[in-house]
Amino acid sequence: MKFVVAIDGPASSGKSTTARLLARKLGFIHLDTGAMYRAVTYLLLGKQAEEATDDKVAGILESSPLEFSIIEGALSVRLDGKQLTDELRSPEVDRWVSPVSERRVVRKFCVKKQREIGKDAKLVCEGRDIGSVVFPDAELKVFMKSDLAERARRRQKELEAKGIDSDEVEVKAGLVTRDKIDSGRELSPLIQVDDAMVVDTTDMSIEEQVDVIYKEVVKRTGKSGGRGMGGGR
Ligand code: C5P
Repeated sequence: MKFVVAIDGPASSGKSTTARLLARKLGFIHLDTGAMYRAVTYLLLGKQAEEATDDKVAGILESSPLEFSIIEGALSVRLDGKQLTDELRSPEVDRWVSPVSERRVVRKFCVKKQREIGKDAKLVCEGRDIGSVVFPDAELKVFMKSDLAERARRRQKELEAKGIDSDEVEVKAGLVTRDKIDSGRELSPLIQVDDAMVVDTTDMSIEEQVDVIYKEVVKRTGKSGGRGMGGGR
């Protein structure tokens, strides 16, 4: 039985951590689609092609040395055989990922891969257009949101853990800019779909965020849950 939990929301609203832990609890695959857009951005930056023409970007993606696969229930991104992790969350990728993700050629490439991975799977998939475009028939749609101050605090903590110094005003400005592009773009903008369950994470712990969605999945599947529910694919 397929089951897709589609989680959308603005930057640093708590999606990634929640989706990862929720997927683990359910025994579902975790698909972080932001990591795909970040990987494409990283690839283009490396070729100084972040502002290249559509034809050039399409050519780079077609002969793409990028590999997306599911390993141990989560997305693994490789470029020329090398696994990408921290590279995907650098300040430079942060700065360029929204303008790159606006482009039709990039969205087409990423959405195709997402649907291939999600076909007939049990999946927790997070991003911006998951419930609206990628998996509009998802069994459960969730919209996660949080105050800007709290989101900036989380992002700064994340950067600090990587030894990157950050300035609160700059981090806030970066989040606002990214949200503005992601919500205002013509193609697949970030929207809260009518049938989404809204989770405001401002005053919630990670455990509470996971729990509230987990309970809804259990309710909708009519099963008691646990790792036995899963199996991904
Ligand atoms: O989720 P994360 O913040 O890592 O996403 C990085 C960026 O990738 C977003 O700001 C957005 O521009 C883009 N993105 C997107 N569609 C998705 C997921 C991410 O456009 N489904």
